[in-house]
Amino acid sequence: MRSIEELGNLKGVRVFVRADLNVPLQDGAVADPSRIDAVLDSLGFLLARGARVVIGSHMSDALGSLAPVFASLRQKIPVSFVDDVAGPAAHAAANALKDGQALLLQNLRRNKGEEKNDWQFAKELASLADLYVNDAFPASHRMHASIVSLPEFLPSYAGFRFLTEVKGLTPALAPESPSLAIIGGAKLVTKIALLTALLPKYDHLFVGGALASDFFAAKGYETGRSLVSGTKDATSLASDPKIILPQRVIVENAAGRDEKTDADVGKADSILDIAPSSIESLRPLIESAHSILWNGPMGNFERGFVEGTGTLARLVADAPGRTIVGGGDTLDFINHLNLRGRFTFVSTAGGAMLDFLAHGTLPGIRALEDSTIRS
Ligand code: ADP
Ligand code: MG
Repeated sequence: MRSIEELGNLKGVRVFVRADLNVPLQDGAVADPSRIDAVLDSLGFLLARGARVVIGSHMSDALGSLAPVFASLRQKIPVSFVDDVAGPAAHAAANALKDGQALLLQNLRRNKGEEKNDWQFAKELASLADLYVNDAFPASHRMHASIVSLPEFLPSYAGFRFLTEVKGLTPALAPESPSLAIIGGAKLVTKIALLTALLPKYDHLFVGGALASDFFAAKGYETGRSLVSGTKDATSLASDPKIILPQRVIVENAAGRDEKTDADVGKADSILDIAPSSIESLRPLIESAHSILWNGPMGNFERGFVEGTGTLARLVADAPGRTIVGGGDTLDFINHLNLRGRFTFVSTAGGAMLDFLAHGTLPGIRALEDSTIRS
């Protein structure tokens, strides 16, 4: 995989940058510019070398417009916007670029070819540029045209933010012992591949959040009205001696909130958090671990069940070993507690992080590695 840093003078060279500008919007404006800011290093580097930069990004809403992103981006770099993806208007705008100028294309998903990974669409995008830079690690778990097929047509490089994620997450694939992985959150189906991959690599794996309820069910405990996946996916993992389950949980029932042991949960209870005492019992492992990986809240924090996650976040923030943390909801939570700077690495890649940790690579990484076209 080649790095953007290998690029020298780019005067007259057209560079397609795949960015992740899928930002949250509110009332038609950018609500959080973090994703825009994350790609500025790569954009600034290319523009300073005289490149003519064509920026492509998706919005998760396939009909959504990148116009609000343009309004924010134009305050930071010299950029124009075209309400077209790969058609004649996009070509005309790309051809009009001068050295050191950028062009933002419309939402790539407005073309059906993007999500279908259509080869012809990738070729049309490729004709807008001479080089390709992927700085969209958070989208690189997708088999989409601008991620996996575009590098087949152009000499391809990884951008700065992309490389930061790879570098930050890679140590979690081979953790130094003693090691502890802590996985919470909901929807076992989104985490089962991760849990299965982590188990042989980590000395201990603590399961919290709604995932713990799946494990309780797998062990034959009553889980009442708790959120469980209803699959049997946890069954084979639940008896693994490396798995640590919480012994005390916070439940809600008609009488209010209560703390119970795992075995005492009744039919009327809904498990909504891990009891702080059960998180505290991890303290010796957290304090002695050389490597800690944490993803996923311990409880339903949106409804105020924040104690388990808060206790855990502070313990991990104080841990002396290497701490790698990530996940969309996990990130929101640690930002809220102002703990962001207290971990060795905080991933902003969400689902792509989970896939990278589960498989050790991503389709977008493989595409860069396999891109054999040389400039
Ligand atoms: P991340 O985005 O950090 O990877 P997930 O998306 O997997 O995390 O999980 C976050 C969600 O899990 C939150 O919506 C939270 O409310 C939910 N959650 C965690 N524990 C529970 C629980 N015991 N019951 C219901 N929802 C839970
Ligand atoms: Mg989430």
